[in-house]
Amino acid sequence: MMELPGLVPVVKGNGYGFGVHRLAGGAGRLGADVIAVGSVAEAKVALREFDGDVVVMMPFFNADAAAVEIMEDSRVIVTVAHLPELARLAEGPAHPRVLVEVRTSMQRHGITLDDLPKVAGFLDRVDFAGWTIHLPMPAGDSNLEEATHIGTAARMAAKAPLWFSHVSVDDHNRLREIFGPDVRLRRGTDLWLGDPGALTVTATVLDVHKVVRGQRVGYHRKSVPANGWVVVVSGGTANGIGLEAPSTNRSMRDRAKTMALGMLDAAGRALSPFEVAGEKRAFVEPPHMQSSLVFLPANAIPPAIGDEVPVTVRNTIATFDEIVYI
Ligand SMILES: *Cc1c(COP(=O)(O)O)cnc(C)c1O
Repeated sequence: MMELPGLVPVVKGNGYGFGVHRLAGGAGRLGADVIAVGSVAEAKVALREFDGDVVVMMPFFNADAAAVEIMEDSRVIVTVAHLPELARLAEGPAHPRVLVEVRTSMQRHGITLDDLPKVAGFLDRVDFAGWTIHLPMPAGDSNLEEATHIGTAARMAAKAPLWFSHVSVDDHNRLREIFGPDVRLRRGTDLWLGDPGALTVTATVLDVHKVVRGQRVGYHRKSVPANGWVVVVSGGTANGIGLEAPSTNRSMRDRAKTMALGMLDAAGRALSPFEVAGEKRAFVEPPHMQSSLVFLPANAIPPAIGDEVPVTVRNTIATFDEIVYI
């Protein structure tokens, strides 16, 4: 927080693999005054673990009873992305803290630039906390042009803090020069997962069985391709193993990476994310709920029960059995 004034830690989904509760507590220890969550359900968790303000980023709807209830908490700031919803809030007895979302080229949520002048008439009847501007991932390395354009339009409609998402630290600093210190930057991935070396993910070897070529194993009685071992490792569908998150495929390089990780070995079997005896090994069959069967050929040295082996997971879809700080 000290190094990046205006930073708002984002704590949502599976808490980037760590759990919303853990990150909410962690954000407090980092000195954050406000954090952002995705949903109302996450806000409830965050409010228990964090003493400051909590922004709910999904759009607010008056018909959502849980959202209306949590909005009454003085530490909660809701995000309004539709004019009729803002109008209803302004008419109501509550005086909720609201961010108003402005539509960007991303076309997810938000009030269009054309409609911004209509917003101003409602703002004195809510506790207006600012504008939120969620940009797409920068096409080059900068979103400054669109951020400045939309920020300027919003500031013309009402002078209030600007809360950006998906601008670089350089752009954030630049935006603070342009618009002043009331500029905030919401960040999750880079904050929690920015240093790949800080995190090691492993699976535990639960069992190792010697098998011969053609022997049938597993739920589906698949025959093993050669002599070797079936290694049973911890981690299955419940942990997010074997589930592929959609790839954005933004570049050829990304695409190549997806294909390389995606998963067939030389014999055409599905490659698992588990690295046993120095290499990613093929699944014997699709992962089970909490463990997976992988095949280790006879020329490799089998691990021992209890060994930890590296596993490649995507944090935002992973559920870890245990998180150990070292
Ligand atoms: C998820 C989200 C963020 C955080 O995105 P990261 O890429 O994880 O930094 C910021 N703003 C909004 C509106 C979001 O939904």
